[in-house]
Amino acid sequence: MKIRMSSPDLTEADRQAVEAVVNTPNLSMGPNIDAFEKAFCELTGAKHAIGVNSGTAGLHLCIRAAGINPGDIVITTPFSFVASTNVILFEKAIPVFIDVDPVTGNINTDQLARAVEDLSFGGERADRWMPRKLPEINRGGDKQLKAVLPVDVFGQPADYEPIKALAGQYGLKVIEDSCEALGGEYKGRYAGTLGDYGVFAFYPNKQITTGEGGMIITDDDEAADFMRALRNQGRAPGDTWLQHTFLGYNYRLDEMSAALGLSQIKRLESLLEKRARVADWYAEHLKDIEEVTPPQLVENTTKVSWFVYVIQVDEKIDRDRLALILEEMDVPVRPYFSPIHTQPYMVKMFGYQQGDFPVTEDLGNRSLALPFSGRMSEEEVLTVCQHLAEALVSAKR
Ligand SMILES: *Cc1c(COP(=O)(O)O)cnc(C)c1O
Repeated sequence: MKIRMSSPDLTEADRQAVEAVVNTPNLSMGPNIDAFEKAFCELTGAKHAIGVNSGTAGLHLCIRAAGINPGDIVITTPFSFVASTNVILFEKAIPVFIDVDPVTGNINTDQLARAVEDLSFGGERADRWMPRKLPEINRGGDKQLKAVLPVDVFGQPADYEPIKALAGQYGLKVIEDSCEALGGEYKGRYAGTLGDYGVFAFYPNKQITTGEGGMIITDDDEAADFMRALRNQGRAPGDTWLQHTFLGYNYRLDEMSAALGLSQIKRLESLLEKRARVADWYAEHLKDIEEVTPPQLVENTTKVSWFVYVIQVDEKIDRDRLALILEEMDVPVRPYFSPIHTQPYMVKMFGYQQGDFPVTEDLGNRSLALPFSGRMSEEEVLTVCQHLAEALVSAKR
């Protein structure tokens, strides 16, 4: 059987949960989304959970709730999936990138501290952190720093203590992109609960899936009401179906998806355990392969939520060639992440150049995501590792 890059872990109970919904007339805004949201409040201890139809939609609603206006600044990182930056662009705000920690790929909090200080000071000190050029839509505006959007990369939460301290000192909102970290913990605290708002995602390669879907959690009552309204075409509590207090969206999660998510979240512990077991097998079978560094966990990560298994290859190895050879061997792999600032549309808008974020670029150039899911057998992991060892010989520069 062909080894897959990722694969959802579905049971008969999951399928029955979806089937039960399609045997009722309630396909949207029914009991399943309520129960799915409640499960997230119980799991994380958050006061509010708001189901949405993607992680991107969830992050976008957080940007709106944080009061981000055109020309405002939001600090984030270029070592991420594009959604974390795009939601800032949706509101015509300016993403200011900070480079990342070479071990975790998470925001470098020393640089963050300097950037927050300089951006709040303004003038030339602020300009040092700004992109080389701004697109027309971002010119003018008062370039006010409003929020930080850290990403919990590959299932390890960012370092939130310094982030929260800075946010408190400078009056910034913290939007936690936990789309890769459901079930992870930072110093014993649940990923997603570490900022003002946290977002999870349920695409089929994530720890739990709803097909497409996402969940926002927050303790902020007012923000929760606002995001619920925006999710539902801007209908505030008390609005009728054709009354719209705000400019909103259709970001609703349908009942089939919510039912699948509810069935999956009940098994979160066992789903995460299975993924951890696969990660352990990888660590075991990679340990004698010299040219490869397996993922490193830091002390603050009191629990990792394995999302992908990303190795770093030595400089001596041509990573792109390695990827091609592995694909030919029927082992799917993916360079992960491809830095956001080097994406064509970002270069066009902001004039980014190679070398702007050296750590992100180095990780981007040497990373390789191996096939990963909780359903992999040890035999499959071993096969991947054997092919990898073989391919490495031919991929030397
Ligand atoms: C998966 C993911 C998202 C959200 O993706 P959707 O496909 O919109 O659900 C956002 N940020 C990161 C870092 C992700 O990995």
